[in-house]
Amino acid sequence: MLGKKNSINVNIKNHGEKDMINIKPKHHLIKIEETMSKSTKIEKLETILWDRWLLLRIYCEDGTIGIGEGGVHGWQRPTKTMIETMSKYLVGQDPSLIEHHYQWLYRSSHFMGSVVQGALSAIDIALWDIKGKRLETPIFDLMGGKTRNKVRCYMHVNGSSIDELVISAKNAVKEGFTAIRFTPFADNYFLHKSYSEWTDEAVKRVGAVKDAVGSSVDICVEIHRQMAPAESIWLGRRLEQFNPFFYEDPMLPDSPAIMSNISEQCNIPIATGERFTSIFEYQQIIESKAASYVRPDLCLCGGLSGCKKVSAMAEANHIKVIPHNPLSPISTAACVQLDACIPNFALQEYTGESEPPKSELLINPLVLDNGYLVVPEEPGLGIEINEKTLSQPENPKILDTPLGFDGSVQDR
Ligand SMILES: [Mg+2]
Repeated sequence: MLGKKNSINVNIKNHGEKDMINIKPKHHLIKIEETMSKSTKIEKLETILWDRWLLLRIYCEDGTIGIGEGGVHGWQRPTKTMIETMSKYLVGQDPSLIEHHYQWLYRSSHFMGSVVQGALSAIDIALWDIKGKRLETPIFDLMGGKTRNKVRCYMHVNGSSIDELVISAKNAVKEGFTAIRFTPFADNYFLHKSYSEWTDEAVKRVGAVKDAVGSSVDICVEIHRQMAPAESIWLGRRLEQFNPFFYEDPMLPDSPAIMSNISEQCNIPIATGERFTSIFEYQQIIESKAASYVRPDLCLCGGLSGCKKVSAMAEANHIKVIPHNPLSPISTAACVQLDACIPNFALQEYTGESEPPKSELLINPLVLDNGYLVVPEEPGLGIEINEKTLSQPENPKILDTPLGFDGSVQDR
């Protein structure tokens, strides 16, 4: 049995000679046996509305506390209520049965959707954190082991004018980022400009950034679903010359067949999936050959469990993974655990965590080194919440849907 011996003798071949080496079993292997024999129960769930985000802590009777985040961006309060509803089942349960609890709660109603999935995602992440902490090992270690030591990030850059956008891009490169992401549209471009005018402007903006950063930096173009299919194809073709790393959500992602047509008709890779809440939506987009990159959100698409499954589905189709990450540093920490254990990771979305309130949320924030997040070696997610920051007030979403020049509703 594990943990019964203090050392193991192993024969290895070294330059043709047999050597004996002495390997001490890792402490965490011993801990696995000890922990498995000591079960615990979920004691309570605590939801925290913190700035624009919904954080979760799950407390166990043995004192372990798991951290999670729910990601129905803008709809934190309904998701909070959903978690509170689910807590009636979870309290008293064994926290180690992560997949079982997910299935039980997911199938508990005739109806599903984003609020249910946001709540389940927060719970899944917190339960993995608990499992890692109880076994004293990082989550990536429990999900197959490390596939990389650091995670390449792309940084958001922006600017109202072309000059401001170029300055923002250059600043990110100075900080060490080797990939940047921006929208090619000027502010409120849909208010009064002609199609020719706003698409010409988009081409100019992408070209200016490409000229400024050169070929050593990848540019990622984010459309935020703001075009029709025909517009998506023609703008995509005009942007091919700048060799973007990806062209994200040129149109609404609801039709895999139409997204597939766009993908066929312009020679730049399409990235999509940030809104998807289940493996079943990913199945359709992958089957339709509509995406070169998938963008699962760990706080919306079933947590670490759900997004590991999406990653495997993508792997089987030679598609790489770019986790969506617009939320708090807890979401980032969960993303890094996934990135660290899948073979088909491409890039990690990163919005910057050096300014308050994000910079104050964690006692031990992840280390950003020249545009790469270092994979932490601490148990679970590898992070702890700074209690002193939890008084940060809620910053609820304001309904501000944009209207076009004629008063018609535009996509966000
Ligand atoms: Mg996006």
